[in-house]
Amino acid sequence: MIKVVFPDQSIKEFEKGTKVIDIAKSISEGLARNVISASYNNEICETETKLYSDGEIKLYTWDDNEGKQAFWHSSAHILAQTIKFYYPNCKLTIGPSIENGFYYDVDFGDDIFSEKDFPKIENKFLEFARENHQFVMKSVTKDEALSFYKKENNKYKLELISGLEDGSISFCDHSNFSDLCKGGHIPSTGIVKAIKLLNVAGAYWRGDEKNSQLTRVYGISFPKQKLLTEYLDLVEKAKERDHRKLGKELELFTFSNKVGQGLPLWLPKGTELRDRLQHFLEDAQKKAGYKKVMSPHIGSKELYVTSGHYEKYGEDSFQPILTPNESEVFMLRPMNCPHHCEIFNSKPLSYRDLPLRLAEFGTVYRYEQSGELHGLSRVRGFTVDDAHIFCTPEQVDSEFKNTIDLVLYVFKSLGFNDYYAQVSLRDPNNPDKYIGLDTNWEIAEKAIIDSANEKELNYKVEYGEAAFYGPKLDFMVKDALGRSWQLGTIQVDYNLPERFDLTYKGNNNEDLRPVMLHRAPFGSMERFVAILLEHTGGFFPIWLTTTQVEILIVGENFKNYGEKVLNILENNEIRAHLDDRNETVGKKIRESELNKIPYMIIIGENEMSNNTVSVRKHHAEDLGEMEIENFIDIIKKEIFDCIPSFNIN
Ligand SMILES: [Zn+2]
Ligand SMILES: [Zn+2]
Repeated sequence: MIKVVFPDQSIKEFEKGTKVIDIAKSISEGLARNVISASYNNEICETETKLYSDGEIKLYTWDDNEGKQAFWHSSAHILAQTIKFYYPNCKLTIGPSIENGFYYDVDFGDDIFSEKDFPKIENKFLEFARENHQFVMKSVTKDEALSFYKKENNKYKLELISGLEDGSISFCDHSNFSDLCKGGHIPSTGIVKAIKLLNVAGAYWRGDEKNSQLTRVYGISFPKQKLLTEYLDLVEKAKERDHRKLGKELELFTFSNKVGQGLPLWLPKGTELRDRLQHFLEDAQKKAGYKKVMSPHIGSKELYVTSGHYEKYGEDSFQPILTPNESEVFMLRPMNCPHHCEIFNSKPLSYRDLPLRLAEFGTVYRYEQSGELHGLSRVRGFTVDDAHIFCTPEQVDSEFKNTIDLVLYVFKSLGFNDYYAQVSLRDPNNPDKYIGLDTNWEIAEKAIIDSANEKELNYKVEYGEAAFYGPKLDFMVKDALGRSWQLGTIQVDYNLPERFDLTYKGNNNEDLRPVMLHRAPFGSMERFVAILLEHTGGFFPIWLTTTQVEILIVGENFKNYGEKVLNILENNEIRAHLDDRNETVGKKIRESELNKIPYMIIIGENEMSNNTVSVRKHHAEDLGEMEIENFIDIIKKEIFDCIPSFNIN
């Protein structure tokens, strides 16, 4: 018999050689119907895999990321089969699943493959899928594998196989099609009910431009037609909300190849937006007892050798900066933490000085390959809303709770209402992997779980996901299109206090080691603005938006009255702008809508003689003519309602 441990830590015994699918059936028939993939002892396997040793099992359905990956990996096999059907002389290379779907890299030889070929491939793909063939793994010897692809004259697969060890090589068969494969499939092709080829692109064999150029065919597949329709709809909506497109339309930021790839330039409107976000968080942090500090964008190489960041970011990132004095070597800073450790070290501290919370909107620089750069969400220089909390082990609990309050305040003020938390703890079976005292880990892990419970977070615990230097809590936020983003990490760190030899004097004048917490509710200003743009489609919460009211006059004669209204609004701290250009009102309204300005005030003969304004709200009904004071009450209430008050206990 073998002992199988389930995710809820319950244990059941099964005969040796029991298949994964039969283990699923032992739980429930319903589950077994939906299970499409599994892992055993953290290795991906299949529903037909027979188990011969004790281990931990996880069963995956389409709703799990692992289930989707198996689904898309298997779909790549069907795509390869279909391509081979139409292009028998093509050479297949590799075809992995990716975050959304899968691709296959193919050498089409003299044949041309383009988007025009998509429909015939999609139709045949579904025909093959409907035949409902099982995916069957088989082990082969290296010689067998080599001779299979020698017959096909496929130099790519031959190269892959020559790098593999005899005894570790397997193929996956379905229908009459075989492909070199390590495994990880759904049970059969019939589960795939919908396919869409998305794109063709050039790709070099093994990513090296010295190698042959291949054709990469991207696709995505689903177990229901409806899911494909929803996905394509989402892609359309996401295109509309792409932060790069909105950033350009709203004149928030730009890029210049002369300045350098991945280095955003913030335009006046974007800078105003960013400043407002910064002040919003700084105000809350001040209330929460943070102290603002500033530090330079570079630091000596030694600093980052001490912190360990040189090891991580040194050779593979921006290269060190040399000065005319040969003994000096600097680096663009990849993280703010080392600087803050040295601020902690600048004078002797006692337990009475803790917690010490140092905050800085600190710009950091990290090299990203040019192909990885993406608008504001992947850049080479970005500003972290960073803070480091230095505290005693006993204070971790209250600091965690306060930081969660701050993060939730940020989410609420910016309209992120759908989120859950992930608590990453040690792997209990591998305690040697982690630095820091056992007792401190226990205190911190308990503090995180207690905080999550007390704040009534919807959270899940992942064992073994902690960093080697401490446990953490991450928030996963869903945006308006249902996409998840990781925001607001709170990380415990036992490592940097060691490396920088940080100490404080305890009650009995003994030297003690503080615990360090890293936290950044926004993450980085760049990535956060990107997420916010895509979440709101550019309609920011009214407290944040640059122009809250656009005043439109219907002709020259009303300019004075328009200026008077502008003045009154500004005196009430409402951000307004007067459009007194000699343009038609229709055009002014359209432009104001394009700029996503929440309120428009229209001023003509009636309004001037009645001493009133006519109000239009974007995306809503006409509010009609009203006294200015009335309008001020309405907009102030809206601003007040959308930004909750922040109180720290
Ligand atoms: Zn496979
Ligand atoms: Zn840090």
